Amino acid sequence: MHFSPVYPKHSKPQNSHELKGAIHLRKLRITAFSFFILMAPVISIVDLIIQSESFISVIVVIYMFFNLILFLWFGFSPCPRCNETFTMKGLFQNGFTSKCLHCGLSIRKKDLRNLSIKLEE
Ligand SMILES: [Zn+2]
Repeated sequence: MHFSPVYPKHSKPQNSHELKGAIHLRKLRITAFSFFILMAPVISIVDLIIQSESFISVIVVIYMFFNLILFLWFGFSPCPRCNETFTMKGLFQNGFTSKCLHCGLSIRKKDLRNLSIKLEE
């Protein structure tokens, strides 16, 4: 027996509820990755200016803490279509996924554009 995760294909949102959820997950994903990537050089620059090891240690701990919160938030977010965790299937986890690992609901930009469904106000 071997472990082989089944990858569903990318699937566009089918109604306004799914579209709204997909847009929310997409924003959350962008926020988490932007923070993770952009804050590292900022901290390096602050480290060069303020040469205090204890101060930087505190900043890095805060940075890691917020990273953890953002990735857990995205990681445990339920899929708007199937209500399962978007980035986790059993023991398999993919924090970089652009689709639900259970039903394939896509949060790629190209799959959220030019849809015939409208967002409910
Ligand atoms: Zn799903």
